[in-house]
This record gives sequence, structure tokens and C-alpha cells, in this order.
Amino acid sequence: MSDKKLRVIPLGGLGEVGKNMMAYEYDENILVVDTGLMFPENDMLGIDYIIPDFQYLLDKPHLVRGIVITHGHEDHTGAITHVLEQIDAPIYATPLTRGLLEVKLSRAGMMDKVCLNTVQAGETIHLGPFQVEFFHVCHSIPDGVGLGITTPVGLIVHSSDYKFDHTPVDNWPTDYAKLSELAGRGVLALLADSTNADKPGWTPSERVIDPAFNEVFRTAPGRIIIASFASLISRMQQVANAALRYDRKMAFVGTSMVENAKMARKLGYLDLPEELIISVDQALRMDPKKIVLMSTGTQGEPTSIMGRLSTGTNRQFDIAPGDTVVLSSHPIPGNEESVYRTINRLFRRGANVIYESIAPVHVSGHASQEEMKLLLHLVQPKFFIPIHGERRHLHQHAIIAKQIGVPEENIAVIENGQVVELDEDSMTIAERVPGGYVFVDGAGVGDIGPSVLREREAMARDGFVLINLTLDSNSNNLRDEPEIITRGFIYARNGDDLLSATRKFVIDAVSGNHNGNLQNDLEQSLKSFLYNRTRRRPMVFVTLSRA
Ligand SMILES: [Zn+2]
Ligand SMILES: [Zn+2]
Repeated sequence: MSDKKLRVIPLGGLGEVGKNMMAYEYDENILVVDTGLMFPENDMLGIDYIIPDFQYLLDKPHLVRGIVITHGHEDHTGAITHVLEQIDAPIYATPLTRGLLEVKLSRAGMMDKVCLNTVQAGETIHLGPFQVEFFHVCHSIPDGVGLGITTPVGLIVHSSDYKFDHTPVDNWPTDYAKLSELAGRGVLALLADSTNADKPGWTPSERVIDPAFNEVFRTAPGRIIIASFASLISRMQQVANAALRYDRKMAFVGTSMVENAKMARKLGYLDLPEELIISVDQALRMDPKKIVLMSTGTQGEPTSIMGRLSTGTNRQFDIAPGDTVVLSSHPIPGNEESVYRTINRLFRRGANVIYESIAPVHVSGHASQEEMKLLLHLVQPKFFIPIHGERRHLHQHAIIAKQIGVPEENIAVIENGQVVELDEDSMTIAERVPGGYVFVDGAGVGDIGPSVLREREAMARDGFVLINLTLDSNSNNLRDEPEIITRGFIYARNGDDLLSATRKFVIDAVSGNHNGNLQNDLEQSLKSFLYNRTRRRPMVFVTLSRA
């Protein structure tokens, strides 16, 4: 018996899709599970990505005994460099997950500062009072694991992302035997993935994609371009298999695709014959009917390869009539609008676009309702906490748990930052800790820096104002009236008023400015002047010449 409680601290992924991060705390010991990122929504201009707010850990970083990463998807790995910059703790991951982490850490120049440990499904490690057993789960990336965490108050099962695919691409189904073995020991609490909690039935096997790919490869009149996530290693294998069957060569486009494929191949998770893979340059010189290109950019991101192809701004190659583009992914909630905009543009450029709703070129890696019921039956938990999903998904998952017999008072639907405490026979809601967004930019995406992107978006939205000033080189006074040029900013109706007010503002500002940087000061003060009058934020430029 223990009088202390296990604290379950959701730092990300509860109440949203993405940036999964969970902390388990017991008596001055913390175990962290996953450190994910989330991609920004449409209205988050110029933001590269979002990571969890892990202030809670920063208040006691020395208590973190270890960080376990369940699989290699960005929403579980993407914040790793940010976390390790501030928390010095060993990482535990299976070989493929570790490989994908290494790609990130070496790009950030952090490989020599971190302690990476490889674990295999079936192994057990000890981190302070936590005994962590890794069991294999099937997902849309190989080498995913769920966790059986033995704590002083009882056994916790953390499913992470899983599905019950009986015919997975890597022939390695979820470890049902381990799940029932854990159940035999008595499971205090189950924390399980809710992503597809509103999907009835069973998620189809990954295998259903093969016939859809066959059809595409059989009928495509020219090049095939397949877009997916860089971490969807199983999808790369399926594309490769189709390419072999239909005698096409395959090329990976984009750094993350190339690096991940190389690493997965080296570790034996991708089986690609040497003669199948060629460079993009080689591919572009070949008969279009003999190649397939695989790239990222399925979420409508304007700076991604697909985004650039759709607007005709990709450097290496353009979309040509006769191309077949396959979007082998599902829009992340919030991205639907930009995904469909990209699809429309690709059609306009002459490509035939095949996406999820017209052919089964993608299946989910997440369990649907019947699989959730099966997991709950297999594990037989006393308490249940739905994780990974928007509020509606968590809520639906709670209903499913209730349907199969978990008492309502034993289910906690909580969101990021809401701490739950467990002991041998009770679960209570505790205090709230920070659990919000941390925006990341400046890490650089593609060829365009985020600040450039932000400026472009500001101009696209609110236009710009250009002020040309000519100063007398002796007196520093204005020689002429300031010249004001606007584009995309003023509407004619109240334009004249605003123009004369702006001119007066500039004249006053110049005569009042005796020191400092006139150009810079005026740009800043004009921005707030214009915002106060119009509630818009145009780009403001001031040029200065002396005569
Ligand atoms: Zn995943
Ligand atoms: Zn996930």
C-alpha cells in the first residue's frame, strides 16, 4: 500500500489532434511519454508549428527520469529538440522511432548532447518507481509501441496510437496476448487513443490501399506523384511495391522524405531494391510513364512541395498535363479548406488528382469504435481516461467505455493541463497546470523564412503603405510634401480623409523627430496610427532622401 498518489498530467493532445505529451508523476519522479508537435491552423499566420507548453516540467526538470517515445510520427516526436534543450533526461524508443529522432536531433546539432536508448517491443525498463513494459501496436508506421506502466499504485496501460489490423503491411499485428496478460494482472487505468472515436465499425486494413494503388499505376498516362507524410514509412513501402509491379522507378522529393527513407532502409524497415530508387534529377529526364515521385505536403501548406506545385512555384519541376497526383493522407482537422484549395489548383494545372474521398488511397492508422471496444474488453481497466483527440472525440470515447461497462464515475474526460490523481481505488480531479500552445517560428521552412511568409501574408491581407520623404540636408526639415503610395489598403470611400490625416501625422512626426532613427520610428508609429484608425495592419515602408 502506498499513501502517495500517481499524478497523470496531460501536457498535450487532450482537447486537440496533435502535440501529444503526457507526464506521469509519483513521489518526486516524472516519466514523460511522447513530445509531439501540431501544425498550425489557417489563421496562425507565419507559424511553423506548435509545441506543448511544458512549463510544469521546467519547474522541476531534475525529476524527469526518462522520456519514452511511442512511435515516430511528428505528433509524438516533433517537440523533442525543444524539450531536450531544457530537460536533460534519457530517451527510450524502438529502433525505427530512434532513427527518426536521430534525423531530427542531428539536424539540430544535438546528437552529442543527448542520451538515446533503444528498446524493443517485449522489453521492460525501470525508471525510478516506474516499470515500463513495451508492447507492439499496429499503426500507420512500423515499430509503434504501447506501454504497460507498473507504478506503486497500480498498473497503467497507455495505448498511444494503435489499430487492430490483422494484415498489416509489415505483417506485425498488435500484441493481443500481451494486452490480456496485462489485464490478468489487473489494470488500474487505461489511457487510449480517441482520434477515430466518432467512426463506427472497424478501421480497414492497410492492405486495402494496394488495389487502389494498382489501379492508379495501371491507368496513369504519365508521371505519378504521391504525397504523404514523411514519417509514413509503411506507405513508402506500398508505393515501392506498386512501382515494382508496374515497372516504374521511384524518387523521393524533399529533405525529410529522403532522410527518413534512407534511415528506414538502413534499419531494415523499408525494403527497396537498389535498382528501384533514382534521384529526382534522373527521374525528370526519364519517360514520364516510367517514374513515380513521392513527396510531402498533403495538408495544403503553401510552402510545401505540393503547395508549390499547385501554384506553379516549385523550382525543380512543374505539374504538367497528364500527371497523376495521389494525396495519400487524410486532412488534419482544421486543414480541410487549404487541402481542397490545393486539390483544385492541381486540377487547374492539368493534373488528375486522386484523394481519399474518391479512391481508398489512404486508410487511417487509428482504431475505430469497434476496436476501441475490443481494447477496453481486453484490458479490463478500473479507470479510463481517453487521450489523443478533440473534446468531441474524448467525449465519444467515454460513451464507448460506458457502453462496455466502465462506470461513468470511473471515466475522466479531461483536457490539457488538467491533472488527475490515482491511488489503488480512487481517481480524483486535481489542480490545473499550464497546458496551452507554444508557437515555434524561425526554424525555417523550405526556402522561405517564416518572417518573409508573415510579411507576405500581411501584405496579402492588408496591403502596404509607402511614404517617400525628402529632407533638406542642412535643416533636416521636409523639402516637399510627403509622398504617400498605397496598394491594397485604402478603400475609396474614406480614402481621402485617411490620406490627409496620414500626411499630417507624417509631417508632425518629422518635425518632432530630432534624434533617433527617423525611418524606423516613423514606420512603427505609423503602424499603430493606421491600426487605430482602420483596424488593419498594412506593411509600412518609409524611404528617406536628402537634397
Ligand atoms: Zn501516430
Ligand atoms: Zn498520433
